[in-house]
This record gives sequence, structure tokens and C-alpha cells, in this order.
Amino acid sequence: MRKGQRNRHRALWTRLQRHLEISLDGLKPRRIRTRSARYAAAIGERLGLIDRPKVCSWCRRHARLERHHWDYTEPLNVTFLCIDCHDIADAMVIRAASA
Ligand SMILES: [Zn+2]
Repeated sequence: MRKGQRNRHRALWTRLQRHLEISLDGLKPRRIRTRSARYAAAIGERLGLIDRPKVCSWCRRHARLERHHWDYTEPLNVTFLCIDCHDIADAMVIRAASA
């Protein structure tokens, strides 16, 4: 790894750690925590901690995939879903939260 690359890589790790901390900080407002959880997942993917499948994890369609969080207290635990399946998953999370 070249020096520039290595520094960028280290900077990403630092950002990941910061967002993981914010996402788990119960004193922060929920919208800040969820935003940091989404950032953390995006960075985790760039660092190779999360693998993006070629197809939707549910319907196996080749489509634009989105990262779905089941629980924002697990920022790096995401499922890659197409837009249609993501709608279904979000509805499931909302129903589970109100149950
Ligand atoms: Zn799908």
C-alpha cells in the first residue's frame, strides 16, 4: 500500500470509530445516532468490513441496492436490499417498534 493510500485508509478508520461512538451515544438525539450509523456502514463498506452482494439479498434481483439497518445500535449489521424490498423491511421495523 502506498503512503498516500495508507493515510487515507487510516483516516477512514478514524472516521469509522468516531461514527460508531456517536451512533452508540445514548445522550445524542436519535437522528444524529442513526445518521452516524449510516455513515459508519458506508465507511465499513469502503474498508471492506461489509460485503455488498451483486443482487438483492431477498429477491435476488439485479437492481440498485441500499443498506438496510435492522437496528441502529448495530451500525455495521446491514442487509443489502433493492428499493422495493427495502420498503418492506422498513415497514417491518416500524411495525416491530410499535408492537
Ligand atoms: Zn429485492
